[in-house]
Amino acid sequence: MKVGIVGGGQLGRMLGLAGIPLGMHLRFLEPSPACPAAACGEVVPTSYDDEEGLARFIDGLAVSTYEFENVPADTAQWIAGRVPLSPGVRALVTAQDRITEKSLFRSLGIPVQPFAAVGTRREAEAAATAIGAPCVLKTRRMGYDGKGQCVITEPTEGSVEGRVVEAWETLSRVPCILESFVEHTAEVSMIAVRSKPPSGQPMTIFYPLTENVHREGILWRSIAPAPCDPMGDLDRQARAFVQRLVDSLDYVGTVAVEFFVTSGTLVANEMAPRVHNSGHWTIDGATTSQFENHLRAIAAWPLGSAAMCTGVSAMVNLVGCVPSTAELLAIPGARVHLYGKGARPGRKVGHVTLCADTPARLEAPLRDLESRVVWA
Ligand code: AMP
Repeated sequence: MKVGIVGGGQLGRMLGLAGIPLGMHLRFLEPSPACPAAACGEVVPTSYDDEEGLARFIDGLAVSTYEFENVPADTAQWIAGRVPLSPGVRALVTAQDRITEKSLFRSLGIPVQPFAAVGTRREAEAAATAIGAPCVLKTRRMGYDGKGQCVITEPTEGSVEGRVVEAWETLSRVPCILESFVEHTAEVSMIAVRSKPPSGQPMTIFYPLTENVHREGILWRSIAPAPCDPMGDLDRQARAFVQRLVDSLDYVGTVAVEFFVTSGTLVANEMAPRVHNSGHWTIDGATTSQFENHLRAIAAWPLGSAAMCTGVSAMVNLVGCVPSTAELLAIPGARVHLYGKGARPGRKVGHVTLCADTPARLEAPLRDLESRVVWA
C-alpha cells in the first residue's frame, strides 16, 4: 500500500519506521529533501502550494495523512479532493486556530478556561478586563513549543489592560487568544486512535493517560501511566472528553489532547490531530505504538492493542544537542531514538525511552538518564 505523508520531520520518520514492516511504501511531501523521514521512503521535495509537486505526491497513493498541523488548509483540501486524507480537513483546521479549537471543546462540554479573541487594541483591552490576570496571550495560529505566547501576571504598576496591549504588540498584532492562566498541579495528555472499519461501527482505543513535564514550553519528560492519577479518575475523565471530540469530528487516526490538572479535574489546553511527542513512549512501552495504530487507522486496518507491555514507561526528549549514543545506551534498558537532525538550540533531535515493571524500578534509571541529558 502506498501511503502519502505531508511533512517529513521526525514524526514522519517514526511513522515510516512503523509502516515499513506492514508492507507500506511511504512517500513524504517535504520541501527539504534531506529531511529526517528521507531514511524511510521517497521524498517529493516541493513547497506545499506547488500543484505540479502535489500531483506527483498523490500519484498512486491509496491513502494520505499529515505529520504536522500547520499544513495549509488549501493544500489539505486539494489532497483530500483526490486521495482519502485522514484525519480529515475539519480536524486539521479546527486544531490550527486556538479559538476554533477551544470553542469546539466548550460546545462539547469539555472544560476550558475563560478565553477571548484579540484582533484589535480595543479587543485586547476588553479581553483583559473580562479575563484579568494572571493570563496568557497566544497567537491563534502557528504557535508550538511555547512560541508565540506571553504570560501576563498581576501588574504592580499600570493596568492589566495596558500589559495585554503591550503583549499583543510584542506578538506583532497578529490575531491572538487571551486565556486565563490555569494554576495546575500537573499536565497530562490522552493519546487516542479512532478508526472506521469498512464494515461495522467506528472504534476508539486509548493509551493510558500520560503525565508531561515541560521546560520553557518544550516537553521535557513523559511518564505513563500518569503518576498523578493513581486511581485512574483523570484517565476516565480524559477518555470521555476525547471520545466526544473524536466522534464530533468523525475523526480517523491518532489524536492527542493535552490537559491541565487542577483540583483533581481536567482543563483542556489543546489538541494535536496527529501523532504526538507525549506518545513517543508507546514505541517501546505499549503493545502497538501510536505510529503503527495511526497507519492502521488511516488504512482502515484493524487497530492493535494500546495496552502497556510493561508496568510503566518514561520518555525524555533530547533537545538542542546530540549526546553520545554510547553514553545513553550505558543506562540499563535505555532505548535511544535519534532523528537524524543537525543540532540547533531548542530543536528536538531525539528521545530516550525507559520501561520498568514498577514505578519504583523506573526511578534509578530515570534519574540517571535525566542527569545525563543536557538541553541546549
Ligand atoms: P501550549 O503551546 O499551549 O501547549 O503551551 C505550552 C506550555 O505553556 C503548556 O504545556 C503549559 O506548560 C504552559 N501554558 C500554556 N498555556 C497555559 C495556561 N493558560 N495556563 C497555564 N500554563 C499554560
